[in-house]
Amino acid sequence: MLTISSELLGTLCAHLEAGYPHEACGILLGEIDDATDVRCVRAVVPVRNAWADAAAPVADDHGMHDRYAIDPADVARADRTARRHGWDIIGFFHSHPDSPAIASETDREWAWPVVSFVIASVMHGHVTDVFSWRLRDDRSAFDEEKISAQSA
Ligand SMILES: [Zn+2]
Repeated sequence: MLTISSELLGTLCAHLEAGYPHEACGILLGEIDDATDVRCVRAVVPVRNAWADAAAPVADDHGMHDRYAIDPADVARADRTARRHGWDIIGFFHSHPDSPAIASETDREWAWPVVSFVIASVMHGHVTDVFSWRLRDDRSAFDEEKISAQSA
């Protein structure tokens, strides 16, 4: 289970909506209780979608709604922030503009086990669904992870 305050969930959704109609992304910092496998989000770090730097041909962009990349420098910076607070990077989040919040084949190729992959469906500029996904150890598939949003 992934727990997040309603305030941080709002921050996450606002960043993804601001990026619409493009894919937007970010990093989740927090703590993992190894005994219960409950992950608690303590900070939401919006980052730039580095995919834009890859100069993908715009003409090929139709129908492709799952293009994002996180700059390793942003990951390193987030990791330093996490360590300062005694946290870890516990997950990543990104949007699926005008597409369901279901982890795609692209997501599976990019993902790895242990961390949570939070995906939000942004329909017509508004977040309509948020799911969290965990990749199986054998990388064969994603399993949904329950999100518990809590008022601060
Ligand atoms: Zn995706």
